[in-house]
Amino acid sequence: MATTIESPFEIGQEVWCISNQSKPYNEPCETCKGTGRVHLNDESFVCPDSCYMGQKRKHTPVQWEVVGPRTVGQIRVEITDSPGYPCKTSADNYTQQKSRVDRCMCIDTGIGSGNVYTYNKHVFLSKEIAQAECDNRNKTIESKE
Ligand SMILES: [Zn+2]
Repeated sequence: MATTIESPFEIGQEVWCISNQSKPYNEPCETCKGTGRVHLNDESFVCPDSCYMGQKRKHTPVQWEVVGPRTVGQIRVEITDSPGYPCKTSADNYTQQKSRVDRCMCIDTGIGSGNVYTYNKHVFLSKEIAQAECDNRNKTIESKE
């Protein structure tokens, strides 16, 4: 019996991914006021506050954001339906299992090797749904701070 498998994705379809990144930026060092040097008794010294030429590397707080659109170039469907195998191991892989996972890879981020995106977790079919998911996750981040 052949199995017909449907996927939420189509090859060539535009999808929207989400990613959480903190972006690096430079900020003037407070100790040397961005000059890279400090003055003491009419002498000038390299700033001791581990800055780089008066700049300090900072990172923005981690925020989820929508990335895309990206184009589906590979579709992966994983269907698990196992009644379990009766043996004396307690390993999870012999227990009863039932799951369905839809994933895709995108032309923009590499096919075969690259990011694998899980449907409704990392990749969404519309920008609006992806944005709603980001808003939701960012709320959780804020409430933890
Ligand atoms: Zn400094």
